[in-house]
Amino acid sequence: MIFLDAAATTPVRREVLEAMWPYLSGEFGNPSSHHSLGEAAATALAEARSGVAGILNCRAGEVTFTSGGTEADNLAIKGIALARQAADRTLNRVVISAIEHPAVEESARYLERVHGFTVDVLPVDGEGMVSVDGLRAVIRPETALVSVMYANNEIGTVQPIAALSAVAREHGVPFHTDAVQAAGWLPLDVKALGVDALSISGHKLGAPKGSGVLFTKGRLRVEPLVHGGGQERGRRSGTENVAGAVALSTALTLANAAQPDEAARVSAVRDHFIDQILVTVPGALLTGHRVQRLPSVASFCFPGTSGESVLLELERLGVVCSSGSACAAGSDAPSPVLVALGIAAETAQTAVRFSFTSTITSAELEQAAEAVETAVGRVRNLAAP
Ligand code: PLP
Repeated sequence: MIFLDAAATTPVRREVLEAMWPYLSGEFGNPSSHHSLGEAAATALAEARSGVAGILNCRAGEVTFTSGGTEADNLAIKGIALARQAADRTLNRVVISAIEHPAVEESARYLERVHGFTVDVLPVDGEGMVSVDGLRAVIRPETALVSVMYANNEIGTVQPIAALSAVAREHGVPFHTDAVQAAGWLPLDVKALGVDALSISGHKLGAPKGSGVLFTKGRLRVEPLVHGGGQERGRRSGTENVAGAVALSTALTLANAAQPDEAARVSAVRDHFIDQILVTVPGALLTGHRVQRLPSVASFCFPGTSGESVLLELERLGVVCSSGSACAAGSDAPSPVLVALGIAAETAQTAVRFSFTSTITSAELEQAAEAVETAVGRVRNLAAP
């Protein structure tokens, strides 16, 4: 089987399993306990936090461990917007892009539905890029928060985060980015990016599902969503997932050490794969930006097919991928991301996303491209009158 669905999830790396194992077995202490087992767990948690902070170029106290990317996004959007509104009642708008993951989009809609916020949605161009001037036009004195994702999970388009965050900063508005897909592939220096908050998920980069991080800058207040014992500096109560934190820190450190060489290698094999598909599959349409895209994502529409049928054929041929976001798998509705790009609903339903782990080889992708040619041909033949 050739696994081309790494944007959905990745296997846990052996080094990560080995690093986390002690905290699931012998060193099982609760970091809040004062005996030696608890202290060992607290030390491991502190080291994991420092490890993540080193890569993000922030202070350890600015790192909050969460249960994953979804929780990190929820905490950022709701937590920052509500804390800012509590300090200044006139703040009642949030800005998000039109192609955010549901974890951001639905958090913003919650603020609208329950707390009376207005959600300003930044459009994207045909390649999925947000415009810096577009943000300048929409930001207002009432804006509590701007959130634009670093890299999109369906089409891989990478946004100009430093330029966008600079506009937010000019207006004194905090800027959050969902870096769940970017982590492990693109630089995560929060100072260079100019962001006030950034979300990461462990399972996209070789740590287990259920581990995540939210960076929040300095004294930026975050209203907690989970109340209790006041762990994570009160930002996220609950006994900490020590093994998950160790795993995430280890996975991020390993991925970071391999950059930028791995990103360059995978980008090159991805480009070859894209070219091969565009040449061999008639009518294939690349979605997202040709150059400003994640090394790990190649996404297409194959007009005249149904994306789900192509996926089934591909699986028969030994290639596992998806039609887009894992959250929407099996849904008949066209992807809102593709629709935001201006792609017709009918074409959007023919989408297939290929996403790679860092171990992908050119031989695997050549084989996969041949399988795509065969699968699309078979589906079109079946559909022909
Ligand atoms: N944000 C993006 C861009 C994602 O791709 C995902 C996962 O698919 C998430 C957030 C949610 O992360 P998690 O699965 O850790 O909740």
